[in-house]
Amino acid sequence: MIVSINQLVGEYSFPAIVLHPMNFKQFVQYIDPANKPSTKVASYMKDLELILNDDPNCYDLRIYDADYVIFRKKLASVTSKSIATITTTCPDCGAQIRTRISADDIKFRKLEDLPKSIVLSGKEYELEIPTVREFLLKTSNIISSDKSDIGIEIVKLMTLFKEREMSKVINIVNNATHEDIIKLMDLLEYTDSTLPIPVECSCKKEKGGNTVVSVSSLITDMFLDLYSNSIA
Ligand SMILES: [Zn+2]
Repeated sequence: MIVSINQLVGEYSFPAIVLHPMNFKQFVQYIDPANKPSTKVASYMKDLELILNDDPNCYDLRIYDADYVIFRKKLASVTSKSIATITTTCPDCGAQIRTRISADDIKFRKLEDLPKSIVLSGKEYELEIPTVREFLLKTSNIISSDKSDIGIEIVKLMTLFKEREMSKVINIVNNATHEDIIKLMDLLEYTDSTLPIPVECSCKKEKGGNTVVSVSSLITDMFLDLYSNSIA
């Protein structure tokens, strides 16, 4: 299975990423609860490993594209079609909503959507969507410097800083107060590589509105759900 770079948001020197759907043994190992990573960061690393094993060019992918490639790999592993049923949670009423989506429904952010820099406590810091290689390096530095069970969103946020010395970035983020917190909250949005998709929930139906859900969780957590919905 081939993902052409035309489908990706970054610029690359190779024409495509070559992926293999998981075989039965890999699939069973992946969904085995005994192999479930203990943190969301570890789960995400496991997903990156999936695509890196298929094609080492994935090291050069920007993280937004890596998320797309992970999604395509998972989709191809459970269905030969490009459409799948997913279950999401309505952010307004908490109901479980089943929606049919195709790979094309999921819109990924562009690299240039990310602000070029952020000013915190009067100092300007450059921002950039990291490649998988940079992400892995930065994340291992973050984890070794900060032993607390740090969330994947915060790890992703820290890797958006161009600064390579992660201990500096950890200090900046940990010491943020007042308006710096608001600015970091805004930046947090860019850790989600996908744009939210509209789904219909009965709680909004009377008012004629749509509910908007993030599909990034689909990419990290919901492989099992894709699988169970594909056989349901
Ligand atoms: Zn609802």
